[in-house]
Amino acid sequence: MPAKLLTGKEVAQKMDQDIQADVQALKARGVNPSLKIMIVGDAPDSLAYANSAKKMAEKNGIACDIEQLPGSTTQDAFVDILKQRNADRSIHGIIVMRPFPKQITEEVVKHILAPEKDIDCFNPVNAGKVMAGDLTGFPPATPQAVMEMLRFYNIPMTGKEAVVIGRSMVVGKPQAMLLLAENATVTVCHSKTKDLPGVCRRADILVAAIGKARMITPDYIRQGATVMDVGINVEGDKLFGDVDTEPAKETAGAITPVPGGVGTVTTRVLLKHVVKAAKLQNP
Ligand code: NAP
Repeated sequence: MPAKLLTGKEVAQKMDQDIQADVQALKARGVNPSLKIMIVGDAPDSLAYANSAKKMAEKNGIACDIEQLPGSTTQDAFVDILKQRNADRSIHGIIVMRPFPKQITEEVVKHILAPEKDIDCFNPVNAGKVMAGDLTGFPPATPQAVMEMLRFYNIPMTGKEAVVIGRSMVVGKPQAMLLLAENATVTVCHSKTKDLPGVCRRADILVAAIGKARMITPDYIRQGATVMDVGINVEGDKLFGDVDTEPAKETAGAITPVPGGVGTVTTRVLLKHVVKAAKLQNP
């Protein structure tokens, strides 16, 4: 039997409903959830991402302002402005778009963004909270989107073998911690892992966060496993995941498509985090 397709649309719709209900409740007590997206320069990818997040935020009743600063902004000036936004009580969540122009260092800026407004896990304090299982933190949006999907589709995690391919700070490592918090037994793989297909075949839940189009073939997948494809790989005008989806469907029990899978849910996670930040800042 071919795998069940775990599409992101239904998950996103349910999240929209929950976000809108929370926004209404916050507004009823005078709190208007608001997101600030900061961009230095005019990188088209950053602008496109920010505009699409703004549209989605506003659709859900969350105010969103894109603050675009000149590409020549100095690091000191940017740090000053960021500190002002940190102190502004009308802003609940802040996203700082990367990459920065070369005069601004990520290593410096990430420590300036207030952890309680850092809804996409830029400040290491939030990375630490993911490690510690501290629920007041904000995990990065993509691994959190994988968790939202696993929960929505009632995929059991307790006691299950989970294998994560990739160990980046934005996906692989936090993904492993989030699965561990759900009592999965987690293995993290990377480019030096020996017998990667063999290790992956142990997985009840396999998360591919590699950045290599269609690398994961049925040889990596245990019969009936749940396969979560985080990969976004552009080839010409087409988008591919890290999993070779069509053949993988014959082995997997459930699988996320690309496009239309995890990526569909990530912006909702950010909005959910804005609501969470607004609640935490207004107990
Ligand atoms: P990354 O920083 O490049 O990390 C890739 C990871 O994959 C590294 O840990 C690397 O191992 C490992 N890897 C690379 N080649 C491998 C191989 N042949 N065998 C085993 N492991 C291998 O990428 P990332 O930022 O984590 O992103 C991963 C993927 O997710 C990309 O396709 C990206 O576009 C996508 N992504 C999607 C979303 C979304 O919303 N869906 C968001 C962010 C990223 P080493 O550590 O040993 O080098």
